[in-house]
Amino acid sequence: MSNHGIGVTITGLTKRYGAVTALDGVDLTIAPGEFITLLGPSGSGKTTTLNAIAGFVEPDAGSILLGDRPLDGVPTWKRDIGVVFQHYALFPHMKVDANVAFPLKQRGLSKRETARAVSEVLEVVGLSHLADRYPRELSGGQQQRVALARALVFGPKLLLLDEPLGALDKRLREGLQLEIKRIHRESGVTFVFVTHDQEEALVMSDRIAVFNEGRIEQVAPVEELYRSPATLFAAQFLGDSNVLRGTVAHHDGQDVLVNDGGMVRLPASHALSQDATAAVVVRPEDLRVRVRKDDALGGMDERPGTVTEVIYLGGRRRIVLDVAGDQFVAEQMNGVGSLSPGDAVVASWDVGAASAVPTDD
Ligand code: ADP
Ligand code: MG
Repeated sequence: MSNHGIGVTITGLTKRYGAVTALDGVDLTIAPGEFITLLGPSGSGKTTTLNAIAGFVEPDAGSILLGDRPLDGVPTWKRDIGVVFQHYALFPHMKVDANVAFPLKQRGLSKRETARAVSEVLEVVGLSHLADRYPRELSGGQQQRVALARALVFGPKLLLLDEPLGALDKRLREGLQLEIKRIHRESGVTFVFVTHDQEEALVMSDRIAVFNEGRIEQVAPVEELYRSPATLFAAQFLGDSNVLRGTVAHHDGQDVLVNDGGMVRLPASHALSQDATAAVVVRPEDLRVRVRKDDALGGMDERPGTVTEVIYLGGRRRIVLDVAGDQFVAEQMNGVGSLSPGDAVVASWDVGAASAVPTDD
């Protein structure tokens, strides 16, 4: 199994179902061999995008190129794309090896070629010892490995996975996440992976495309998406955020966000205009919390608050704060001083660790 992945170029992809706009002009360029995740809430258009690439759904507008080949009018079976769904969809009356051999039978391969390809791909997914079982004799995780083997056996250059781990329990899911990453690395195939689970997206992806209501809010490498969200939706969907809303202004030679609580500085890289409504986003691990000695607040980038909860998480702890009626969360290593509910505190951060995003209210 040494394929090379193929790229995908999606332009202006639009799909309506009656009054529902499932996709509203999706643009996405996927690089050959990358692992990209489509992340978003239920109903945001992830499956419709995958189905349009696979050829199960005909778009109303827009185009999809596989490499440099347009896919309009190309039937599903001629696209040579591997697909894995949440529900394994194995043939119950066929043993594992026959299930995996099925796509090769359809393509008219000889018995010998088929046997070789099947044993090779079963090795890759770690199922060689179970080739002789029926699907009902396998665990959910093993069945999903069979589905993965069947999707890879004919050597596709692109694999689409639609919430393939969604039906598995947490422990099993985590094991298979790493397994799928390994298979991606070793095969070189391009993987497009759909999930609504942000942690899964963080673990697995090179890049993440954040979907919201049929549109892509942001596409970026995992760390960039977390550190520099482009929209409030992207910030809040991936990871926890402390959000200060306000209006952009200029003060003493610098750009600030102003609200009832005062001013906070905007990071130098912001792209907001004067008087725009906007939000400053600070991640929990970037929020410092210190006991408030008196009413004087020193620096610019801080807010007074009250501790409402301290949650022990092993090596770390989460401190939940009430900051002028808004809930803030800080995450700290254990053993950096003690805080208790009711403590009057100051929450502060470095402006360089914050990001600034537009808001529309
Ligand atoms: P996701 O996979 O992100 O949960 P989908 O792509 O399945 O979202 O759906 C996007 C939107 O399109 C949803 O509002 C959904 O109800 C609608 N939709 C999807 N498929 C159909 C269909 N066959 N008929 C009618 N509406 C559909
Ligand atoms: Mg879906």
